[in-house]
Formats: sequence, structure tokens, C-alpha cells
Amino acid sequence: MSHDIAVIGGGPAGLSAAINARVRNKTVLVVGNDYRESPLYRAERVDNYLGMPGLTGAQLLDAYQRHAEDMGVEFRHGRVLNIMPMEHTCYLSIGTDMEEAGAVILATGVSRGKKFPGEAEFLGRGVSYCATCDGMLYRDKQVVVVGLAPDAAEEANFLQGLGCRVTYVSGKAPEGLDPAIAYVRATKLEIVGEASVTALRAGDEEIPCQCVFLLRHAIPPTDLLPALELENGYIRVDREMRTNLPGVFAAGDCTGLPLQLSKAAGEGLIAGQKAAEYLDGL
Ligand SMILES: Cc1cc2nc3c(=O)[nH]c(=O)nc-3n(C[C@H](O)[C@H](O)[C@H](O)COP(=O)(O)OP(=O)(O)OC[C@H]3O[C@@H](n4cnc5c(N)ncnc54)[C@H](O)[C@@H]3O)c2cc1C
Repeated sequence: MSHDIAVIGGGPAGLSAAINARVRNKTVLVVGNDYRESPLYRAERVDNYLGMPGLTGAQLLDAYQRHAEDMGVEFRHGRVLNIMPMEHTCYLSIGTDMEEAGAVILATGVSRGKKFPGEAEFLGRGVSYCATCDGMLYRDKQVVVVGLAPDAAEEANFLQGLGCRVTYVSGKAPEGLDPAIAYVRATKLEIVGEASVTALRAGDEEIPCQCVFLLRHAIPPTDLLPALELENGYIRVDREMRTNLPGVFAAGDCTGLPLQLSKAAGEGLIAGQKAAEYLDGL
């Protein structure tokens, strides 16, 4: 389906961008995870947000979400895996689905954690970031799900239901995992193989498998858009929150320090307004 603006990430920057684009009468789709899974949701107290000291992270995020819903922002749960900017239209892949938008605002926060050894080397040759996209390829085969996001157990159950033989690896035992799925507790991981993946080394164990599904909360923006320019590890933007790619804007923690709420909300406002102006000028 086509939207004026797609926002990747439903945190403070993404929702600020979304409501400010709605004020300019643009249709807006926000793609992101359940906002209650944000680490900020568990913050006991936020004291430096102007005029509203002492709120919990949950109170703030609940209010942001209500505000955006009341303004007619559309939401879609999921991880954007890839963005293809074409002339005047950006195509977003979300699992096996596609969405289209005239402009994109990246509000993906910071992706914590480095890539695992072997991850980049075997991407597409037995390393996958999407269970719904690639699960069918591994029916009747051994796969490992590395649970780095709260919905990873659900995805592992989905793969098991498809007929994959699943092992689940994470630092902490997940809730809701199908009891038929073997669980291995480990955080030190290495993906090994030859032409394609043959095993995951998890701590002292080597788990033979044909695919490793790495299910994270966030995907680094340069994996979404390889032509995106960075500066000091963050997305390079100008004062209008424009990236180096036409029709692609960015806001919030993903553009750099300070990693703070007020900056995220302020940049989101500019990105929402400028993306709307960009569309009006086409
Ligand atoms: C515990 C805690 C306490 C904090 N306390 C304070 C405080 O007191 N004061 C303060 O100013 N700041 C505080 N912060 C920092 C503040 O939370 C951040 O600066 C702010 O949330 C940044 O907003 P954002 O929208 O840029 O990114 P985020 O809030 O990180 O939101 C980004 C969202 O994008 C999603 N996403 C990423 N990639 C994709 C993808 N490919 N597809 C779909 N979705 C994607 C992520 O899952 C995430 O939900 C705190 C942070 C934490 C964790």
C-alpha cells in the first residue's frame, strides 16, 4: 500500500515526525516494534523533559502513542529489512511484504551490539534476519534462532511449526518457547561454514545447522540503505534532517549525540515538516 511518508521506528523521534507530518495533512505509516518493548518503557523517572519532570518512561511512551493514534497515524508492527529508493517512491520490505512511500524518515535509534563473527560473510548463505521470509527454505532442516528481540521466541515457534528443527540460543531463557525447541544459553557466538553455514558455535557448543536466524530489535541503517552516508558512526544529516539520499530524512538517536528525548522529539518535528515540504515540491 502507498503512503505519503513512511517512518521507520516508533520511538520519540519517529512519533514526533509522524504527528508533524499529519499536521501537514500527509498520510503516515510508522513501522516498528511494540513500543512497550522499548528499554525507555522501563525507565523509572525522566527528569529533563521540559515541563513534565518525574514521569516514568511508560507514562511518556503511552502518551506519545495515544497522541499519534489520535492524529490518525497508521501503525504496522515489524522490522523493515530493506529500503529501495527509486525515483519519487521508496519501497520498504517488511518480512515478506512491501510498503511504498513518497518519503522515508529513519528514526531507528541506535543499534546496540556488534555483528557476530561470520554474520556479514554468510548473510544470504545461511544467515537470515527474517523468519517469515526465509523459513520455508529450511523446512526439515536444522536451524538456530538467536533471540535478541522480545518476539524472537514467537518466530522460533513459527519456524518449528513450519517443520524446521529449531534450536534457540540466547543469554536469557525466553518466555513462551515451544517445549519441543531445544534451548542453549550462550552469548559468545560465531557462525561457521564453507560455501554456506554449517554450524553455530555457542559458547563451548557447536550446533550443526543450515541457517542461523539472527532476530534483533533494530537493524543498522546502512544495512537498510547501503548508500547512506554516516559521520562518526551516525547518519549524516543537514539542519533540515535530510540525508545524502533524496526523499530520505533521519531524526533522533540515529543521527548522533546527545542521545536524549528532547533532541529526538525536536529532530522528529523538523524531519516530519521537511519531508512534507519535500513531497509538496515534487
Ligand atoms: C533506560 C533509559 C532511560 C533513559 N532516560 C532518559 C532520560 O531521563 N532523559 C532523556 O532525555 N533520555 C533518556 N533516555 C534516552 C532516550 O530514551 C532516547 O534518546 C530516545 O528514546 C531516542 O528516541 P529515538 O526515537 O531516536 O530512538 P528509540 O527510542 O531507540 O526508538 C527507535 C525505534 O526504532 C525501532 N527500529 C530500529 N530499526 C528498525 C527497523 N529496521 N524496523 C522497524 N523498527 C526499527 C527500534 O526497535 C526502536 O523501537 C533513556 C534511555 C533509556 C534506555
